[in-house]
Amino acid sequence: MTQSDNPTQSNSTPSLQDRDAEERRRLTDLQYAVTRRKYTEPPFTGLYWNHWQAGRYNCICCGTPLFSSETKFDAGCGWPSYSSAISPEALREVRDTSHSMIRTEIVCARCEAHIGHVFDDGPAPTGLRYCVNSASVDFKSST
Ligand SMILES: [Zn+2]
Repeated sequence: MTQSDNPTQSNSTPSLQDRDAEERRRLTDLQYAVTRRKYTEPPFTGLYWNHWQAGRYNCICCGTPLFSSETKFDAGCGWPSYSSAISPEALREVRDTSHSMIRTEIVCARCEAHIGHVFDDGPAPTGLRYCVNSASVDFKSST
């Protein structure tokens, strides 16, 4: 599912340049490289690939909830994997033809941070695997 850009976004929000400077200060180099330069963190290195507490995973850039621990599963791939987004509006899908592959990129619907990719080899009932960079998300415990 693809959504067009939200036309109600107000122009009182900081300019892209301001936001970029602020994020460079606030994010780690890795978080910035992943979310704004579409870098992929090496597998089995992130904070969350083997992390199983109950809670929510929010966009590291804007704080929007993206995934719930309830849909997280062990895909064995070394990245956090989820069978669905926390809501249909949370993520936007973008066709990605980089690296000689056709993949579906997922970005934060609110701030367009690169999150990862979604594949169709996930578990039932969705059959989807949201393959996510730990560096793109911030875990908030629900306990
Ligand atoms: Zn975001």
